[in-house]
Amino acid sequence: MEELLTVKNLKKYFPIKKGILNREGGSVKAVDDVSFSLFEGETLGLVGESGCGKSTLGRTILQLFKPTEGEVLFKGNNISNMSFKDLRPHRKDMQMIFQDPYSSLNSRKTIKSILMEPYKIHSLYTNKEREEKAEGMLEKVGLNRLFANRYPHEFSGGQRQRIGIARALMLEPDLIIADEPVSALDVSVQAQVLNLMRDLQEEFNLTYLFIAHDLSVVKHFSTRVGVMYLGRMVELSDKDNLYKEPLHPYTQALLSAVPIPKIGGARERIILKGDVPSPDNPPTGCAFHTRCAQCMKICKEERPQLKEVAEGRFVACHLYE
Ligand code: SF4
Repeated sequence: MEELLTVKNLKKYFPIKKGILNREGGSVKAVDDVSFSLFEGETLGLVGESGCGKSTLGRTILQLFKPTEGEVLFKGNNISNMSFKDLRPHRKDMQMIFQDPYSSLNSRKTIKSILMEPYKIHSLYTNKEREEKAEGMLEKVGLNRLFANRYPHEFSGGQRQRIGIARALMLEPDLIIADEPVSALDVSVQAQVLNLMRDLQEEFNLTYLFIAHDLSVVKHFSTRVGVMYLGRMVELSDKDNLYKEPLHPYTQALLSAVPIPKIGGARERIILKGDVPSPDNPPTGCAFHTRCAQCMKICKEERPQLKEVAEGRFVACHLYE
């Protein structure tokens, strides 16, 4: 498989302003030195507790946030330092699906004009062709083309998410970053939307970066899974091995809380001590050391690097060095 996206040592720090003079006083390390590759046609699930930086990572890849450091290579082009003008043709090939489709759809516009908007921005097609394509896309996402003249408030949550997906597909992108696309939906509707996304992946040859906090959703939808903790990628592996035999103590704790049946009995629940530390003052060494039952002296001093410990299995933990 060809590499579609390469993320190299990506960092996104947000400055903290302090005092009445708004002086800079430190920074929130939302994404802290993350590297990975995404291959054409795959679905990489990105999981972690809320605030671990997974959504910021998605937005920084799309250049909605300018990276503090590091590189994002899309189809071999370094897009992280491009001007707005140079970035424009690449933006067309990378789209986002948001968690809350209602707030991302303009409530004063009809569905047709929402779907036609990307064509206007990129000056593509005649008006007649735009209308035809918008109505055709509604059918592809399982909605009646007659809905094109309605407004977002006339639809259910699941239908609105279908419209969000349709809008993301209008420009026929290669990469879709889906940020918690089903977590605001009822469980029965979640499965329908996930099935739709899978069918569309085949039809449009899409590559997904699928961000979610729900490990069971990611299990059914992804080919590989990356686990994030405090802005860092701590484990990256193919789905089957990660769920069968998680390597990083944080992944083990996360999975122990998921009701997934295991041959030979249920997984023993690992209760994590303490809260997630603040990303503006992460612990030294391994960011997980304040909560890890297997913490050693080196863990407090040296940051473990993400290393391949078996074919296709990457982990950032001193236990495997
Ligand atoms: Fe635990 Fe040390 Fe591994 Fe961090 S590096 S997860 S503290 S064993």
